Amino acid sequence: MSNIHFHPTNDILACYSTGELDPASSIMLSAHLELCSHCRARVTELENNQAQDLALVSSETPSEAQSKELNELLDNILSHDEIPQDDVVAVTNAHIEINNKQFRLPRALQRHEDHIGPWSRLPGNIKRANVTTGGHSKMNFIYMDCNSSLPQHTHQGQEITLVLAGEFMDEHATYKPGDFIVQTSAHHHAPKTRADQDCLCLTLLDAPLHFTNGLATLLNPFSQLFFR
Ligand SMILES: [Zn+2]
Repeated sequence: MSNIHFHPTNDILACYSTGELDPASSIMLSAHLELCSHCRARVTELENNQAQDLALVSSETPSEAQSKELNELLDNILSHDEIPQDDVVAVTNAHIEINNKQFRLPRALQRHEDHIGPWSRLPGNIKRANVTTGGHSKMNFIYMDCNSSLPQHTHQGQEITLVLAGEFMDEHATYKPGDFIVQTSAHHHAPKTRADQDCLCLTLLDAPLHFTNGLATLLNPFSQLFFR
């Protein structure tokens, strides 16, 4: 989708393609890939490269330890969820409902439908619903109604935000469906929505190891205060 301006880094895509991401981060990635043909192509390319590397290594006689490692790697690669293509119709009708509106759940979250908590109210005309995914990081749906705003703030941890519907903006940019935004404690901003446009996002706070390296910098969606 050419409207997407913020993508996961190559580091994250590489970890995804080898199956090294934790489940929650994988869900964020899968949900982005569902919307982004550019990154889908990148992941396919990475997986092909890995397959070639494996084929090269396999042509030599591997030690027992190497064989085990290779098999594990292959298992990881092969156990990936199939990445949906643009023309594939969603297999279920799972939706999330808020403000008398229905939003289709990303395919990666449809199996977690039962793990989506009730909506709770936050300051600034904003609501959130927790998604239980296991692991240490916290996943939430964040719904910003029309004309929502937050005071400028900073973060303590790292946060990933994926816009699912509508749009929000800050002093740096406007974020639209598919945008994958990573920010850290180095950033601060004041997100808001327009008077006539709401926004639904999926956020993940405190993503683990693989996300800390080489990332940084983009923008700053929501305060950590919101993820108690
Ligand atoms: Zn992308």
